[in-house]
Order: sequence, then structure tokens, then C-alpha cells
Amino acid sequence: MDKQAIEQFRQQHRGAVIERHDALYDDARALYNGMIDKRPLLIARCVDVADVAAALRLAREQRLLVAIRGGGHNGPGLGSCDDGLVIDLGAMKGVRVDPERNTARVGAGCTTGDVDHATHAFGLAVPFGIMSTTGVAGLTLGGGMGYLSRKHGLTIDNLIEADVVLADGTFVTTDSERRPDLFWALRGGGGNFGVVTSFVFQAHPVREVFAGPIFWDAADARAVMRAYRDFLPNAPEELGAFIGLKTVPSTDPFPREHWGKRVCAIISSYNGAEAAAQKALAPLLAALPNPLFNWMSAMPFPAMQTLFDGLLPKGLQWYWKGDFVRALSDDAIDVHIEHASRSPSDLSLMHLYPIDGAVRRVGKDATAWGARDATWAMVIAAIDSSAERADALKRWGRAYWQAVHPFNLAGGYVNFMMDEPAGRVQASYGDNYARLARIKAKYDPTNLFRVNQNIEPASSS
Ligand SMILES: Cc1cc2nc3c(=O)[nH]c(=O)nc-3n(C[C@H](O)[C@H](O)[C@H](O)COP(=O)(O)OP(=O)(O)OC[C@H]3O[C@@H](n4cnc5c(N)ncnc54)[C@H](O)[C@@H]3O)c2cc1C
Repeated sequence: MDKQAIEQFRQQHRGAVIERHDALYDDARALYNGMIDKRPLLIARCVDVADVAAALRLAREQRLLVAIRGGGHNGPGLGSCDDGLVIDLGAMKGVRVDPERNTARVGAGCTTGDVDHATHAFGLAVPFGIMSTTGVAGLTLGGGMGYLSRKHGLTIDNLIEADVVLADGTFVTTDSERRPDLFWALRGGGGNFGVVTSFVFQAHPVREVFAGPIFWDAADARAVMRAYRDFLPNAPEELGAFIGLKTVPSTDPFPREHWGKRVCAIISSYNGAEAAAQKALAPLLAALPNPLFNWMSAMPFPAMQTLFDGLLPKGLQWYWKGDFVRALSDDAIDVHIEHASRSPSDLSLMHLYPIDGAVRRVGKDATAWGARDATWAMVIAAIDSSAERADALKRWGRAYWQAVHPFNLAGGYVNFMMDEPAGRVQASYGDNYARLARIKAKYDPTNLFRVNQNIEPASSS
């Protein structure tokens, strides 16, 4: 790239512009997933919409590959690219809560923890995921599921408005009335349609929750998975609860006598008082053997959202596989248990997140996120601190996924995918894919935004 173009760009761009020779470069390009090692040409740390527009202008004029980075958590590292321009929105923080309308305007660089912090002061929360370090932007644009989803829907079901810089540089605000096609596509279609610079979300009353993990020995995993599967559809929607096959980490604060044991865990957050939570969980717990330990207790919601942050710091090796699941059969449960028992590290896991309640009450074609008739979003994540284990992580993740995929739907949650066979993105959007491709052709006909789970523009014919 010619030096003059970079110099001109620096004059138009308020935030830092980082090149390969800069001391900050390695730190600036590092992603959450340590398995990904991309070397962009330029990283533009945007501070406002003008910066984003300038960066896109440079990309168009210099024909640069463009990646959009929110929180940098994406599994395959789609917040960065090799030899191209990274539009890094991490500095575009800021949350404004409107306590009269129970809404929050959120800058595209916020993590979910930034928003939880701001809304908690008002006794409110937006439904996001289960960790506080994830970027709001990537999580939202892919769908967004977490403890509040059974009661209040996916993150996109709570999206009211978004500000977007389009591929041609136009700045627009979209909602259900202004450019409704774009608003429809943003709700699940990922980073395919433009650079979102801010979001407005509906928030809900959430203050103290009764929450935490319960761990059972793997010998009880079959009973726990079957009981959880049968219990959840009738449980109150205030209870957000996902199930996982894991290993007790060999570290404090886990009880030393259980370190390294294979376990089945149910991790729950009940939005309400302890007595109501205990009542909601009673039918499940009564049907099951005693757990190894039960760490549910009353806590502020942001404390629950940060519970796993310390265990999963930035820079670990992650290999992801995801699927949507309609029915969890006894046979599928057995396959899960068999493969989880071979996990290559303490941190590796399989989680099933419920798709029910409010998530299912939204129509399949009401948003781009079309898996409303699935029952679970499954993720297999092979995780370890050592890069030397990367091949072992991939081998385990792939073998597990191949064994269990025949029980699952063809597609998966785009935010849980890594290296996927051809056709998986289409399968993940199902009947909504053709409409997404038409909207892509309207807003990004040259596929400028292609570092993502890509939706190719429909051809004019
Ligand atoms: C530890 C961990 C826990 C997770 N837990 C959950 C969970 O509970 N629930 C859940 O739903 N997901 C969860 N996820 C998955 C998460 O939703 C995805 O990793 C998501 O991509 C992260 O968003 P980000 O902004 O941090 O990612 P980035 O890597 O910054 O971006 C990912 C992609 O999003 C797009 N994008 C980002 N910002 C913008 C923008 N402003 N405008 C347009 N496009 C943009 C781009 O296409 C980019 O390629 C988790 C991930 C991790 C690593």
C-alpha cells in the first residue's frame, strides 16, 4: 500500500492507525482466540462514525480486504484478517441508559460487561451471553443467547435500533420502520451488511439472581442430561439454565478432591428470589443423585455474568464446532458422554443452550436468525493454554462433532462455528438465506464485508 495513502488516511482518522512496524502492533492484532494468528496491514482504531467512514473509504480506494472488530472474541478470528484493514471499534464505548423507557444505547466497542455494569445501576439488564468479556457487536449480530433468553428472547429480539455505516460510506439509522430490510438482516445476519456503530436495546428488570453451577460426577451424566432435557420445557422462564459436559478445573476455588474429574454441569441463573428459584429447580433436583457440589447462591446479575471470566482469559487456544439441535435423544446423549469422556484438556467442554420460551415465540422469518424451531444450540469447544495442544484440540473437536452431528440439524449458530464445510452458512439460515442474499446484494453488492460467516450477494439474474 502506498505511503501517501496511509498518510492521508492518518489525517482523516482521529483514532490510532497501527501499522506492522509499530510497537503496538502485536498487542493490537492479538485476538481472544490464541489459535488465530492474523497479520493485518493496518489496524484503524476508530473513535467515531467519521473514523469508520474514513476507514471504509480507504478500503474501497485501495481495494483492501476489510475485517470489523468488536470485542475480538469470535472463534475463527473473523474480527481480523491477513494483509487487510481491521476496523477496530474497541474504543467506541459508552452506554446511555434511559430509565424511563428501559432502554440502553450502546457503543459498538462495548463488551457485554460494560453494558451490564451500566444497566445494573438502574436494576436493568439486556439479554446477552454468559461471559462479560464478549463483544456486544459480534454477539448481537449473530443472535445472542444467554441466561435471560428463555424469558426475554435473544439479544436481537431486544434490538430496537442500530446506527450503521454502509459499504458505500452512507450513514443510516435502521429500525423496524427505517430500512426494515436492513434491520431484519442485521438481526442474525452477522457483519455482512455494514459497520454498526451503535445499538439501542430494550432492557428488563434484573437485579439479584439466584445463580451458579451444580456439578455431578460423570457417572451420573446420563441421568442428569435426560432429566434436564425433560424438565426444562416446563420450568418457569425466569430460570435460564444450560447443561454442559466438562472437567473440574484443577485450580482454586474448585474443591481439590474433585480436580480433574469428568462432570456434567447445569449452570443456571434464576431472575428472582432464592425461594422461587429453589421451588423452580426442586423437580429437577429431586429426580437426581446428590451432586459433587452445588454453588448456587444469591448474587448481583453482573457477578453471575463474570463468574467464568477468570477461567477463560484472552489468549487460550480454542477450537469451536456448533450445531442446532431439535431433539436430544437418549442415543445422542450416549454419544455426547462417550466423546466428552475423551476430552483433551480440563477446559474443553460441550454446552447445550436452550432455544425455547421467548426465543421460540418470535416467527422463523421475523428476523434473519431462523432457528426458532430448534431446541438447543450446541457448542463443542476444545480449549487449552498450550499452542502445542492445538492439533489434539482440533482432532477431538472434529471427531466429537462428526459423531454427534447426525443427530442434529444441518446448520448451527454462526457465533459457535469455526472451519465449516461448504453450505453450512446456508444451512444455518435455512429459508432465510435467499432473502439475506438479496439484501446483501442491495447493501453490499461487491461483498466488501466478507470476513464473516459470509452471505454472498444474490446475482441480479
Ligand atoms: C468465551 C466466550 C463465550 C461466549 N459466550 C456466548 C454466549 O453466551 N452467547 C452467545 O450468543 N455467544 C457467545 N459467544 C460467541 C460470541 O457471540 C461470538 O464469538 C461473537 O462473534 C463475539 O463478538 P465480538 O464482537 O467479541 O467478536 P469480533 O471477533 O470482534 O467480531 C466477530 C464478527 O462480528 C462482526 N462484527 C463485529 N463487530 C461488528 C460491527 N460493529 N458491525 C458489523 N459487524 C461486526 C464481524 O463480522 C466480525 O467478523 C462466546 C464467545 C466466547 C469466546
